[in-house]
Amino acid sequence: VALDCIVVGGGLVGLGSALALLRRDPRARVVVLEKEDAVATHQSGRNSGVLHAGRYYTPGSAKARLAVQGLRKMRAFCEANEVPYETCGKIVVAVTANELPRLRDLEARGRANGLAGLAWLDRDAMREIEPHVGGLAALRVPEEGIVDYPAVARAMVRQIEASGGEVRSAAEVVGVTRRRDGVWVVETRRGAFEARWLLNCAGLQCDRVAELAGERRDARILPFRGEYYTLKPDRQHLVRHLIYPVPDPAFPFLGVHFTRMIGGGVECGPNAVLSLKREGYSRTAIKLSDAIDALGFHGLWHFMRRYPGVTWSELRRSFSKELFAASLQRLVPAVRTEDLAAGGAGVRAQAMAADGTLVQDFLFAGRDGAVHVINAPSPGATASLAIGEAIIDRLLGVPSEPARAVR
Ligand SMILES: Cc1cc2nc3c(=O)[nH]c(=O)nc-3n(C[C@H](O)[C@H](O)[C@H](O)COP(=O)(O)OP(=O)(O)OC[C@H]3O[C@@H](n4cnc5c(N)ncnc54)[C@H](O)[C@@H]3O)c2cc1C
Repeated sequence: VALDCIVVGGGLVGLGSALALLRRDPRARVVVLEKEDAVATHQSGRNSGVLHAGRYYTPGSAKARLAVQGLRKMRAFCEANEVPYETCGKIVVAVTANELPRLRDLEARGRANGLAGLAWLDRDAMREIEPHVGGLAALRVPEEGIVDYPAVARAMVRQIEASGGEVRSAAEVVGVTRRRDGVWVVETRRGAFEARWLLNCAGLQCDRVAELAGERRDARILPFRGEYYTLKPDRQHLVRHLIYPVPDPAFPFLGVHFTRMIGGGVECGPNAVLSLKREGYSRTAIKLSDAIDALGFHGLWHFMRRYPGVTWSELRRSFSKELFAASLQRLVPAVRTEDLAAGGAGVRAQAMAADGTLVQDFLFAGRDGAVHVINAPSPGATASLAIGEAIIDRLLGVPSEPARAVR
């Protein structure tokens, strides 16, 4: 066999996994196959750029564990590779009285997850940190920060190549089979590759790549687009660092926030709108096969019946700058509609179960020398190096003997 491991997907999770394997075994022959012309083109290059510290994840969950480890690893990686990052801290703001108990709960979870330096701020104390913030009280999370994730991805590529691995772009995986002798054969638009191990880190396409490899698509990837505005330069003084709302435990990715970016400027968002194209970054983007795939999935209809309010309010806000501004004003009342300039967008790969529940935790599946990353939502970028380690642990624990369950 030519290779030890094929990694599908050149996002942070795929690159982090390749690096983890090369660290474990410097002689491993590894190739990362990326369908686009460059790495980090999708989620890894189109996110909020935040280094999350794992404050509200359920204690004991993979998210909580890997976010805390991942943040440490990511900071060390940035130091070693001269990638710009800043530990600027974040405040999570309770705007209404009924958010106060939830904020207390976040504080307790943060402590359980081992976060250092958490502080409860009353109105005056929070205004010392963010003079323009509204609301009743805030939790300060000093360990959170901001980073240039595309630069992280480029540094990961350099490290992989320096360790003897390879990253091939414009190499879309279109077929996967497992030979009787247990070798994985991966067809791409740039020829076929063979390896004894297969890692599927295809992000928005991970369920499809898993299906190519013979897995059932029990959980479906639903694409939720997140659209951003930016604060116009003369209003950027309204936000110093990171200002977040108290998350709804049922929808941790909902709630627009303010993010000072590592390269300058302040982003506002993202919202969360069901996208009719998995890699669709404009409001009107639609791809028929993706739309049919989403709308033909029973789970989505269960979800929309259960949460009609959320579905429609996100959609309405997507088309109304005033509504978007109103959400932002909850956190910073001085922000006006005219302060917002159009920003970018990203699409989240969110796994949904057949009964319409959102898969909240990181989820990996695998057998026969393959691991599929089924769900790696936020804080997947922060945690990517730790996720890589966890995947390699799992891979090395999976028996890869031949002739079993080849479908
Ligand atoms: C709007 C938004 C905001 C976010 N904010 C944050 C944040 O602030 N902090 C944080 O930690 N996380 C954040 N996240 C989450 C984070 O971006 C993701 O968890 C992380 O980037 C996932 O990385 P990935 O490698 O799994 O996916 P991706 O970066 O999407 O990479 C998957 C790769 O696989 C490739 N691929 C797909 N199919 C194939 C194929 N058939 N053959 C070859 N290649 C293929 C794709 O082209 C892509 O490059 C955010 C996400 C979004 C969308």
